[in-house]
Amino acid sequence: MNKSLFTYSIISFLIIFFFGFNFLFSLLGNILILLFLTPILLIGLAFLKINSFKSKFKVCTNCGSTMMGDSKSCLYCGSNFSEFENNKTYSENASSETIEIEAEEIN
Ligand SMILES: [Zn+2]
Repeated sequence: MNKSLFTYSIISFLIIFFFGFNFLFSLLGNILILLFLTPILLIGLAFLKINSFKSKFKVCTNCGSTMMGDSKSCLYCGSNFSEFENNKTYSENASSETIEIEAEEIN
């Protein structure tokens, strides 16, 4: 008979004898949960890393090429990014932006 198998059976028998079946099942359940959860956790972390990596990319609005890092101008066509960002900002004075509508009578 295999000696290691014998010792393992004795150890498992002692565990069952001292802690009972419930302990063994809960232990196996915990191990299974850990085995299932760790890959899910790793996938989630990888997804977050990819997202943070993607946010570092910049797409040129002029030529459409992608760049890494916080470069202020396009490496390929040389267009300035800050100019495009400035165009996106809205005026702080809301009253100047409102459009006056005059009421007209409809015959
Ligand atoms: Zn460009």
